[in-house]
Amino acid sequence: MASLSDLPLRDDLRGLSPYGAPQEPVRYALNVNENTHPIPEAVARDIVESLAHAVLGANRYPDREFTELREALAGYLNTGLDAEQRLGADQIWAANGSNEIIQHVLQAFGGPGRSALGFPPTYSMHPIIASGTGTTWVTAQRDAGYAISPETVVAAIERTDPDLVFLCAPNNPTGTPLHLDTIAAAYEASRGMVFVDEAYAEFVPDDIPSALTLLPGRERLIVSRTMSKAFAFAGVRVGYLAADAAVTDALRLVRLPYHLSALTQAAALAALRHAPEMLAMVDEIREQRDRMLAELPVLGYRAHESWANFVLFDGLTNPKATFEALFARDILIRDVGLPGALRVTAGTEEETTYFLSALADLGPGGAA
Ligand code: PMP
Repeated sequence: MASLSDLPLRDDLRGLSPYGAPQEPVRYALNVNENTHPIPEAVARDIVESLAHAVLGANRYPDREFTELREALAGYLNTGLDAEQRLGADQIWAANGSNEIIQHVLQAFGGPGRSALGFPPTYSMHPIIASGTGTTWVTAQRDAGYAISPETVVAAIERTDPDLVFLCAPNNPTGTPLHLDTIAAAYEASRGMVFVDEAYAEFVPDDIPSALTLLPGRERLIVSRTMSKAFAFAGVRVGYLAADAAVTDALRLVRLPYHLSALTQAAALAALRHAPEMLAMVDEIREQRDRMLAELPVLGYRAHESWANFVLFDGLTNPKATFEALFARDILIRDVGLPGALRVTAGTEEETTYFLSALADLGPGGAA
């Protein structure tokens, strides 16, 4: 086999690494922030019936505008919004996971000669999709404890003058909350698009408003969501965003026609019909997250505040050795490359118990 250097690859892709979270067949897979609860069987049956119906029409291209799905997603988001914040279906866009949402946004608003600003440590695909679309990725530092204050975001935007600002609310891999005043300040300070990645929105405390509430009157603001996490739908690949209808018109210029298959649309519509059952596990997952936030310090670790379905903890003597020791016990968590730290997904009560007791067995500071 030839190597990459034998190929006329784009110069700006040389030396880059692909996304590569390990996919290993372990009993306790707590490394990519999936919902570890399976889809309820009654819902699964309804999804299968919808798929069967869609298959019968699969000789035709699917609805290129995924109109019904946009209506259903608007309905889902509107349950949490006041009357004056309600979204129309023309303000919704969907794609194969929120990764493709990010790609569409960068294709339309980034690209060669343009830049996107991010605040590492943050979601690793933001810079990877930026480089795939030829967008320059520029970075700025977070405050202590991984927070981003309005002053910090404004200073970074003034320094870098980006075409896009990427904010993650709450942040992955740290779980850190991001408050609306920071998002509003970023919008005021920038001339470009402000992309708020709310992949973990359903795990945020109930009384905290989403960035969706900031959309009216802000045509450069984009709020992105996914069905991969709270909806237990990671394998289906459905992400979506809400923004001004002009933004969705911009995305029509870059999407491939029929990018959402008839099967994806049918499955997502069926799942959204069962939103309450699909989301029934969110409270239990938040409980397990809060339990880890309480119990990890008892084991001598610092657990970072998290509004997501995972916890970043540090105080490990040797994160790689601890990762390996847990892996040997059939547990997969995530080494996100932060010193002394690892990240673990909040799973079922049984999974959390197994993880915490395996970690306790390794002794203070984890494996050496
Ligand atoms: N955004 C964030 C912050 C994420 O953590 C993830 C998944 N790990 C995604 C987007 C992408 O999710 P998906 O493509 O499955 O919707």
